[in-house]
Amino acid sequence: MPRRRSPWRLVLALLVLAAVGAGVAAAVAGRSGETGSASAPDGPTGTAPGTPSASPSTTPAPPPPPLAGRTVVLDPGHNRDNGRHPGQINRQVDAGGFAKACNTTGTATNSGVPEATVNWELAQEVRVRLEALGARVVLTRQEDAGWGPCIDERAAVANREGAALLLSLHADGVAPGAHGFHVIHPGLRPGWTDDIVVASGQAAVAVRDALVAGGLTPATYTGSEGLDERSDLGTLNNADVPAVMLEAGNLRHAGDAALLTDPAGRARIADALAVAVSRFLAG
Ligand SMILES: [Zn+2]
Repeated sequence: MPRRRSPWRLVLALLVLAAVGAGVAAAVAGRSGETGSASAPDGPTGTAPGTPSASPSTTPAPPPPPLAGRTVVLDPGHNRDNGRHPGQINRQVDAGGFAKACNTTGTATNSGVPEATVNWELAQEVRVRLEALGARVVLTRQEDAGWGPCIDERAAVANREGAALLLSLHADGVAPGAHGFHVIHPGLRPGWTDDIVVASGQAAVAVRDALVAGGLTPATYTGSEGLDERSDLGTLNNADVPAVMLEAGNLRHAGDAALLTDPAGRARIADALAVAVSRFLAG
């Protein structure tokens, strides 16, 4: 490629002139000075066609981040100390036209890491990523300790906040040979989920696809290709906004437990979830 004089030298010179006075710069460049562009007609002292404009007008504001103005509610499932509060968590609440316990203890790894803590840590990773994309992120609980909100209240948080998506984060505890993630979306419960079934299904596909693209394995033991439709979950049934629940892996499976208790593993999942939320909200 032949050497050419850098156009940036001219740009620099014009910018200096612009700093001295917009009128001078406009005259030299043959531009209006306010709205000049590379395609504007040259004046009597015009520069070569295609020369970048030296307009002194202010730099346009950067575009808003992609999730600006959107609210995402993250629901880290359970609370670490639910087991110490049986009176509270066994209270019956409306789970979508039927009664169910306020919450459960959740499961744990074989070495005793509570599911609630895995969910909590994952939610922090997801929160950071979504906020970096401009989203307003609300969590259904503010700490890992203690006992947490009932399942109906977790959905109510998303409803009150006008969330574009409720993403409930869980991990499973099944036979040690079973592994992989699955994304649960609400089935049709007339009067409860009519308004969210379709969008929630789309959100579930977005989450599944992003996790697969991130190298995670769809569950070998339940659902179909990483998706599962259920109508018995109060968190989903009580939602009036698109809602999905991720079972990120089987904490009784050594490989899944290693992934989910490793910050790097959770970061990998969170990366995929941020992609999923972005794609779903863009659609
Ligand atoms: Zn759970």
